[in-house]
Amino acid sequence: MTIRPIPLATWPTPLEPAPRLAQELGIEQLWIKRDDLSGLGGGGNKVRKLQYTCAQAVEAGANRIVTTGAPQSNHARLTAAAAARIGLDCTLVLTGNAPETPRGNLLLDDLAGARIVWAGDQPLDQVAAQQEGYVIPFGGTSAFSAQGYVDCAQEILHQLPDLDAVVVAVGSGGTMAGLVAHLGSTRVYGVDTGAVPDPVSIISGLLDQMGTPTGNLRIDREQVGAGYATLTDSVRAALKLAARTEGLFLDPTYTGRAMAGLCANPPRGNVVFLHTGGLPGLFGHPAFSGS
Ligand SMILES: *Cc1c(COP(=O)(O)O)cnc(C)c1O
Repeated sequence: MTIRPIPLATWPTPLEPAPRLAQELGIEQLWIKRDDLSGLGGGGNKVRKLQYTCAQAVEAGANRIVTTGAPQSNHARLTAAAAARIGLDCTLVLTGNAPETPRGNLLLDDLAGARIVWAGDQPLDQVAAQQEGYVIPFGGTSAFSAQGYVDCAQEILHQLPDLDAVVVAVGSGGTMAGLVAHLGSTRVYGVDTGAVPDPVSIISGLLDQMGTPTGNLRIDREQVGAGYATLTDSVRAALKLAARTEGLFLDPTYTGRAMAGLCANPPRGNVVFLHTGGLPGLFGHPAFSGS
């Protein structure tokens, strides 16, 4: 049975040159792949994966989709938006307890009509399994949905045939897995965000299931700092640098870390920075939202 992805945005996303940032970092050519502009729900990398996971949910006859995440999960926000777009109900199971004031992504989850279940300190998967509806995995990542980033890798090669390197934030791993499946492991530079304890084994596992040899995965684990929800000085500097050279806004959890990784170890040649979205998270981050 072949399940065809449900279109949720307009493709391809733009590939834009970033000459002032390139000069600042001493990179020959730097391009920004604007997956933050992937139409639906404020955009971001989760849209490409949701095209696949939502197709599976519809195929399974679901009326409601359920997914899990951190309170500022971009995946949760985009799942709520995708559910609205295709006419399904949505339940989001989030870690911890309801904050006094919903900010950032949480505000958007509510606008999109999602039902939010706070898991406290219970395991998210367990609470999700107790909900009625079709469960989309953490981060929307599976070997099937990673195909969304095989699609993206094809787009990039079409836009930039002599690509040398892609730099991308790593959370649940599906985005990097899809890129590696199509581009090979030597051209993809992942920057870990601390969302999962062992990203290498998760991505290797996904690639195995996709039937692609893993090779030697390149993952920078130096940008996590004191943990997923924290802000490091190098990430703060990276947010400012991107904004002040290119008018490009990044988020403190994912793209800010990826940019900090790019600044620390700039690859050579034709380099693509994958902008995976996430800006609403800036407005929900304790270091920025004043909470
Ligand atoms: C989820 C997310 C990522 C990481 O993608 P994964 O496929 O989960 O590794 C990167 N950037 C942003 C903004 C995200 O929301």
